[in-house]
Amino acid sequence: MCARYTCPVCGYDGLEEPTYYENFAGSNEICACCGFEFGVDDFDCDTFEHEGLTEREIVEESHRIWREKWINDHFELFDVSAFPKEKKNGRFLKEAGAIKQLNRIKKEGL
Ligand SMILES: [Zn+2]
Repeated sequence: MCARYTCPVCGYDGLEEPTYYENFAGSNEICACCGFEFGVDDFDCDTFEHEGLTEREIVEESHRIWREKWINDHFELFDVSAFPKEKKNGRFLKEAGAIKQLNRIKKEGL
């Protein structure tokens, strides 16, 4: 009963639900690490033009944009209390942990 899912944006592996159901219906879970809300921050992302894109392309592009923002924000944590002291620097995830997470995304091809 403790299956966990990986966030495709930041690589945090403590999500409680799969991020998307059929047809990219989002879980509405908010990643405790990067703060992305699945089903909201993807289709509501207005940083790029959605017209002519498939749902998969919209989701992937919104993830890429959010990930860049999260990296530029120095891995700021959405829910600081969800992370043990040794993994964070104030309200930021330590870089070593962040790099490990980002490598996890690449490895799992999320
Ligand atoms: Zn995340």
